[in-house]
Amino acid sequence: LLADFLIQNTSEILTCTGPAPKRGAAQADVRSIPNGVVAARNGTIVFVGAESEWQRVGSLTADPVVFDAVGDAVVPGFVDPHTHAIFAGDRRGELRRRLAGASYAEIAANGGGIVATVKATREASERSLASDTRRRLEEMLVCGTTTCEIKSGYGLTTESELKLLSAISALAADQGQRIELVPTFMGAHEVPLEFRERRSAYVDLVVEEMIPAVAAQGVAEWCDVFCEKGVFTPDETRRILVAARAAGMKLRLHADELGSSGGSRVAAELGVRSADHLIYVDEQGADGLAAAGVVATLLPIASFYLKLGRFAPGRMLIERGVPVALATDVNPGAGFSPSMTFAMALACFGMGLTFEEALIAATINAAYSIDRHDRVGSLEVGKQLDAVVVAGPAIDLIRIGAGVIRRVIKKGEVLPF
Ligand SMILES: [Zn+2]
Repeated sequence: LLADFLIQNTSEILTCTGPAPKRGAAQADVRSIPNGVVAARNGTIVFVGAESEWQRVGSLTADPVVFDAVGDAVVPGFVDPHTHAIFAGDRRGELRRRLAGASYAEIAANGGGIVATVKATREASERSLASDTRRRLEEMLVCGTTTCEIKSGYGLTTESELKLLSAISALAADQGQRIELVPTFMGAHEVPLEFRERRSAYVDLVVEEMIPAVAAQGVAEWCDVFCEKGVFTPDETRRILVAARAAGMKLRLHADELGSSGGSRVAAELGVRSADHLIYVDEQGADGLAAAGVVATLLPIASFYLKLGRFAPGRMLIERGVPVALATDVNPGAGFSPSMTFAMALACFGMGLTFEEALIAATINAAYSIDRHDRVGSLEVGKQLDAVVVAGPAIDLIRIGAGVIRRVIKKGEVLPF
């Protein structure tokens, strides 16, 4: 076996090997290799295993990169399967007001909330959207995220939704862009102000104009809908997702975040890949998701910053056989942390997951959530070498604030930052 890149001298490699998705007891099966090495050629893993075995079967090219992990742990690069990282404007002021006691309704009544982001995003150029987003993606990368999903949904007109997706395409194609992007169309993120008195006309616009236009340009792999009381009903959600599937997009949705909205039932009925948030899913809803093979993508950072006072029932979902993934929900209103390790820490301390379950949720199950599990999310032969070198043992990943990401490796390259 010939390699041009080698990570050696690890305390352990937590490979998070599939098959994906990992559910039930398998959600905790991180497949650790003590003192393991991982070798790659042209960015693809050719060997993962014991150092002694590598010395027997492996050899290096004339000019290899050999990375000394100095006794630290190595895990797969994190996959973040739910972000709203492309938007214009700044709502940090709202954060202070919320902390001082203002309710979301009061903030919205003063022109804040999602309406403020939509206004700023409609006015922004594609170029400025891309450059603002590039900075956010770099923040995520420094936190160990090597692949992420990214949604439109702050334009809410055909033109501005296409502008957002076009900016995402430009970022994805940029050689200097170091995180791999998976694009989602989310024209059904909210009913825009100008349609509030005629909601069904907005659903018509999404189905009859936006979805065909997005499909024609080939700029979105997924379609997402915010199924929630006061946003889109289960019937509207079903209509939009069925149209998106017919147009060639894969499906996911925001479900049961603020109440039992019926979103998890729609998710199971349509067999979508992922149902996201699920703070209010009950045991019956979980059984439906498990039977339909739907991944639960949980976003505890949103619960935390929105002060919702509760998290999704992650422990219950795992025990009922639903594969669980984690994501950051980076967004201007409540997704203030780009860190998958913060999501892991909250999953451990707020949802009752073990460290191993949280790590699987942030890697291979997250990759499955966005249909990238054949290429990323675990350290396995044939996959891309995307990895995080922890500054210490693996459990240190949940020491939030301690700077525990020593290095990020993307396609077999140690990234400078
Ligand atoms: Zn979201």
